[in-house]
Amino acid sequence: MTAPTFRFAPSPNGELHLGHAYSALLNGNLAKKFNGRLLLRIEDIDITRCTPEFERGIYCDLEWLGLEWEQPVRRQSDHFADYGAALERLKRDGFVYPSFMSRGEVRGWIAEQRMAGAWPHDPDGAPHYPPLDRELTEKSRREHMDSGKAFAWRLNMDAAIGTVGTLDWSEFDVDQEGIERRITARPQEWGDVVLARSDIPTSYHLSVVVDDALQGVTHVVRGRDLYEATSVQRVLHRLLGLAPPVYHHHRLIEGADGRKLSKSARSTGLRALREAGCSPDDVKRMVGII
Ligand code: GLU
Repeated sequence: MTAPTFRFAPSPNGELHLGHAYSALLNGNLAKKFNGRLLLRIEDIDITRCTPEFERGIYCDLEWLGLEWEQPVRRQSDHFADYGAALERLKRDGFVYPSFMSRGEVRGWIAEQRMAGAWPHDPDGAPHYPPLDRELTEKSRREHMDSGKAFAWRLNMDAAIGTVGTLDWSEFDVDQEGIERRITARPQEWGDVVLARSDIPTSYHLSVVVDDALQGVTHVVRGRDLYEATSVQRVLHRLLGLAPPVYHHHRLIEGADGRKLSKSARSTGLRALREAGCSPDDVKRMVGII
C-alpha cells in the first residue's frame, strides 16, 4: 500500500500569509497523523508573476514554521513538457479547441446577444465562453491559428461531460476520523475552461491534475476557495485516465475586516509577522491550529 501523500502547493507570486501558514501546517499535521509523506510543490506556471525571491521566501517561511518536506521540490515551470503531453492527449481525443476571442470580444458578443443578465457565469464570476469557436471548421481554425492571433486551448465541456457522465469526489473530514462524503461534481458550471494559452502553455487545472497524479498525491488538503475547481479537475482526471485523490477543503483564514487574505496585505504576511517578533507558536495560535 502506498503511504498517504499530502502536498502544499503555493504559487511564488507574493509573500505567504496566515492563510498559507494554516494550509501548510494542516497538511503537515495530517501527514504526521496518517504516517504519510509531505510534498511541497512550487506552482509557478505564470512566469510573468512568479519570482525566485518569492520562491526563496516560501522555503524560509515554511522552515521557520518547523515544516519538513521531501526533496526534490517539484517546480512546475521545469515540467511544461508533462503538461504539454497531457494537452496533446486531449487534443488527440477531440476534447479541446483553440479559442480566439479576447475578454472584451466575449463581453461584446454577450451584450450583442442581449443576454447580459441571463448569460451563465462560472463560480469565479467570469462569463462562460461563447460557443462560436468550438463550431469552427477545421479550415477556419487553421486560418485563425496561422494568422498569428493569440489563442487559448479550451476544454469542450459539453463534449467532456458527454463522455465522462456524472462524477463525484470524496471530501474527507479531518476531525472525525477522516469520514468521507461523496460530493457530486458540477463541471457544467464552469463552461469551456482554458487549459493552455499562447504565453503560458498550460493552466492551473491541467498542471495540478497532472502533478498530483505524477507525484502520487493521495490527499489534497487546500482552501475552500478551490472547492468548486474540484469539479473541473475530476473531469480532467477521467479524460486523462488519472486516479483521483481524496479532498479536504479547509476553512479560510480571514483578515480583521472579514475578507479573504491577500498576498499584498503586509500585516498578515509571515515575514512581516516574524520581523515584528512573532514566534511560530504565535502564528499557530493565530490560525487556531494549537
Ligand atoms: N497553487 C494554488 C494556490 O496557491 C493551490 C493549488 C491547489 O492546492 O490545488 O492557490
